[in-house]
Amino acid sequence: MTTTTKRGRTRTAAEPAPTPAETPAAPAAPAAAESAPDATGLTLAQAEASTSEITFADLGLSGPMLESLRRAGYVRPTPIQAQAVPLALKGRDLMGLAQTGTGKTAAFTIPIIERLIGGPARTRALILTPTRELCQQVEESIRKYGTGTGLEVISVYGGVGYDAQTTALRNGVDVIVATPGRLIDHLEKQNVIFDDLEVLVLDEADRMLDMGFAPQINRIVAQIHPYRQTLLFSATMPPEVEALARKYLRRPTVVQVGRRSQAATTVRHYVYPVPGHKKTALLRHLLGEMKADDSALVFTRTKSGADRVVRDVTDAGFAAEALHADRTQAQREQALARFKEGQVRILVATDIAQRGLDISGITHVINYDVPQQAEDYVHRIGRTGRAAKEGDAFTFMSTDEIGMVRTIERVIGQEIPRISVAGFDFGT
Ligand code: AMP
Repeated sequence: MTTTTKRGRTRTAAEPAPTPAETPAAPAAPAAAESAPDATGLTLAQAEASTSEITFADLGLSGPMLESLRRAGYVRPTPIQAQAVPLALKGRDLMGLAQTGTGKTAAFTIPIIERLIGGPARTRALILTPTRELCQQVEESIRKYGTGTGLEVISVYGGVGYDAQTTALRNGVDVIVATPGRLIDHLEKQNVIFDDLEVLVLDEADRMLDMGFAPQINRIVAQIHPYRQTLLFSATMPPEVEALARKYLRRPTVVQVGRRSQAATTVRHYVYPVPGHKKTALLRHLLGEMKADDSALVFTRTKSGADRVVRDVTDAGFAAEALHADRTQAQREQALARFKEGQVRILVATDIAQRGLDISGITHVINYDVPQQAEDYVHRIGRTGRAAKEGDAFTFMSTDEIGMVRTIERVIGQEIPRISVAGFDFGT
């Protein structure tokens, strides 16, 4: 089928979107709450057990989409995909409680692509995310699964010039992936209108609210008509997110993978007791023990701390890059690209990189500083052990961080084994 669009673009629809099977292949998701969604989803173990036999074909996807997923090397849907995709294809509002690393991005990009292919070329889907990095990842995901569909996607975020975004928006795109602040700027300049918008995704809603984006989100959603499909994803469910869901979702189905705060199961955690002044030496020691193709994401509390660690490990002969908010967008992109391509095996980041970063194959997450929030621990270590690969999470604990580690252990419901390295442990 060939569609000539109102913008003069010609698009070949790969295949009309299928009507999802009425008998859902996925396990019954928890019943929809009337207005206040309640998080009575499956635990990770249950979800994995009940979805392990499901194939992508069972989800009611089109031939070209199945081909894209095959090309991506995916054998089976992850539990969040198995649950969310059939419901989203039916047009349901969804609340996905899942952290990054569970395959949640594809859980919403796949049904969006299926919905849009072959349809009119208008801006029909908007995905709001908290950070530029996440914007780029979602955009990449749409390009990857939407290969050959002719769908046009743009990501819109701050820290870069307006011109390219303005031109792209004015020419018209099918899908916009945006951070709330920059999108408001474009709305004010009337570079984009949402009259034809059908699907709204609020990705990492908890993170967006943490970052103070509630007013911007409210202003954006006010411009979108209520007969849309709204999908909200969040790693945690604080009352603010619940309130957002109650306001914007209509009879949502709650899909949950993993209990709140549950750490990824494929990650081995260890705590290294070490006095603060010996942390760098311990880091160098551990980096020296890594295998040639291992890679480490090191988290520090401050931007200057990240720069200092990069200098120290570079002096010791390890190639490392820093990723934090004081670096320019170009520097951040370059650091990330060099790390992703394996040119450097060590990326030192502040919490800017904590969530959402999709870098596959990280073998080590090292908390040079103990995170200030227990939830952040879960997100940081979610950078390793992604999509069922195994990983190690090392946390350096100085004497004044013992209390914080105990809090983290309470929240994740497990004790983290201590590793004592002679000469480093403050107990030795
Ligand atoms: P996300 O949770 O969306 O950040 O995805 C985590 C990682 O899992 C990404 O690298 C995806 O490419 C990958 N992924 C997503 N779905 C699957 C799947 N069904 N099988 C294997 N890997 C997947």
